[in-house]
Amino acid sequence: MKKKLVLFCMIAITAFSVTACAEQAKLAREIGKDAKNGAKVQLFAMDTIMDLQAYGENAEESLADAEKEIHRLEKLFSITSPNSEVTKINEGAGKEPIEISEDTKKLLLSAEDINELTDGAFDITIAPVVKAWGFTEEIHHVPNKEELEHLLTLVDRNSLEVDKEKNTAFLKKEGMAVDLGGIAKGYTSDRVTELLKDQGITSAILSLGGNISAIGLRENGEKWRVAVQDPRNKEEYIGVLNVTDQSVITSGGYQRFFEDNGKIYHHIIDPKTGFPAEEGLLSVTIVSTNGTKADGLSTSLFVMGLEKATEIWRTSHDFEVIFVTDQNKVLVTEGIASSFEFEGEKQGYTYDVIER
Ligand code: ADP
Ligand code: MG
Repeated sequence: MKKKLVLFCMIAITAFSVTACAEQAKLAREIGKDAKNGAKVQLFAMDTIMDLQAYGENAEESLADAEKEIHRLEKLFSITSPNSEVTKINEGAGKEPIEISEDTKKLLLSAEDINELTDGAFDITIAPVVKAWGFTEEIHHVPNKEELEHLLTLVDRNSLEVDKEKNTAFLKKEGMAVDLGGIAKGYTSDRVTELLKDQGITSAILSLGGNISAIGLRENGEKWRVAVQDPRNKEEYIGVLNVTDQSVITSGGYQRFFEDNGKIYHHIIDPKTGFPAEEGLLSVTIVSTNGTKADGLSTSLFVMGLEKATEIWRTSHDFEVIFVTDQNKVLVTEGIASSFEFEGEKQGYTYDVIER
């Protein structure tokens, strides 16, 4: 029996190509009442479409505050806006430490933890390489070997100093830069979740460009149902997760890429090689109560590949994973196996559970 799905744009939103995203920038802001007792808002921020829905007495006001919070954080973390804290840190590279807000500090420290956990696969100092491939400004280009070799000398997590007492960040080498694209939406979803809960919202679903965060239960008392996209066909999904008070965050090479001379180059870069990661995975979905960590890990476990990623999962106890491999396998870690409904057979996927 096929239940009616509440997809919440996980499929639709991650499916937007970059050009479609740019077109959607024109999208009008929309806020209004949804079903009885509920409200929804759609906005464009952090280079993507965001959909927020909340239920309860203060739903409409709370979502208006959530929207403001998203724009406030975007102003801190944007790599392309001239006045963001990230831009100031990047402009200060090799020159001087830059004073940072509590939010930027927390995000930089989380990035540092994930860098350590993933043995460097998550590295926000990857920025000069991401830029060279043209993903920062969407002017795509395949860099040559010499260019990459030089840029990789600037990818150096140990040369980013965050001073917790002075609240400053300093990139020690000129030319270095940070890019928070792999983690900022997850952090934002955590802050918005906190804000909504503080305002008494007990039921809500957020989609920040396909990064889903669920608060509480649906109005009918059931868990939120989140569809996980088929990385080979954005119109389809490989299964549905039933979640409450968790974030579900997916990364994959299919989300942002370009083609050159018949070859596909995507936006998730292996800091060891400077090239788009090719480790046999099509997508990685992380399920966790910590959205910041889920976002950082979805990007970096994709870089590491199935085997190393599974080792990290085995030694951690605060997240679960759905892997889709280029061998058409859907592999789900045992902690979420009972919440996952596999529906990928018709697209030729097989299904298995990874045991601890
Ligand atoms: P999306 O933001 O498209 O949902 P991700 O969360 O996987 O997807 O983030 C990808 C972005 O992260 C890239 O566009 C780039 O800005 C940045 N990035 C790419 N490779 C790395 C890496 N190895 N470590 C940290 N950030 C990365
Ligand atoms: Mg990420």
